[in-house]
Amino acid sequence: MPGRLAGLVDSHAHLQHERFDGDRDEVVQRAADAGIERIMVPGWDLPSSEAALELAALHPQIIHAAVGVHPHDAASMDESAWGRLESLARDPAVRAIGEIGLDFFRNLSPPDAQREAFARQLSLAASLGMAVLVHDRDAHADVTEALEAWPGRLASNHRGVLHAFSGDAAMALRLSDAGFLVSFALPVAFRSAIGPRDAAASLAAGRFLVETDSPYLGPDRDRRNEPTTVLRVAARLARLRETDPAELVGPIRAAYDALVTR
Ligand SMILES: [Zn+2]
Repeated sequence: MPGRLAGLVDSHAHLQHERFDGDRDEVVQRAADAGIERIMVPGWDLPSSEAALELAALHPQIIHAAVGVHPHDAASMDESAWGRLESLARDPAVRAIGEIGLDFFRNLSPPDAQREAFARQLSLAASLGMAVLVHDRDAHADVTEALEAWPGRLASNHRGVLHAFSGDAAMALRLSDAGFLVSFALPVAFRSAIGPRDAAASLAAGRFLVETDSPYLGPDRDRRNEPTTVLRVAARLARLRETDPAELVGPIRAAYDALVTR
């Protein structure tokens, strides 16, 4: 794997997570040293959305914030919490609404609460003209249908991202045609990840991003992941696409920049 890829982006990293409390600045510095120029930090609930904004204010040159409620946390929201999220979303530093979506694998919140939270945040993003960062686990059909019907950013070809993509090539191409980007994390390297590997080989340059989902989805289950792993993701994608990692950087950066432009 390359030691440095100047201009690269980590499109999804939860650097506000408590597992970074001891050395967050060093983690950001290591990312910058590896050439990473943008890190999108999505919230998963209200406190983590506020923390994402604080982090973006501390490192405005590299960190972008998104605010949103993860499907796992959907059931924790009441009307006053929704009001608070809506006012947070109006902060001019917010770059996207996320992460939002559906997770029918773990069902940590009941499916109906997940659906309501997803619909509500899709509407919020549409009303603000912002892109959405979407989590989809075992909910491919529902997520595809919801995104295809979504009226947000219709004039843009960068309407949102399927993060840590776990679907197949047909789903990736269908959502790419509908204006969504597909973001790959380290599991794309696993031999068992047949769908994502086919998707990574099939999408046009400029239609996919790379991410780490730090502190999750790292190379070692017991250890924390961090943004520098995105170089490894880029190296794997380059191999799947029979190109050089450096060739991927320009299109990834341009797609990311278009995504976060309001
Ligand atoms: Zn995430």
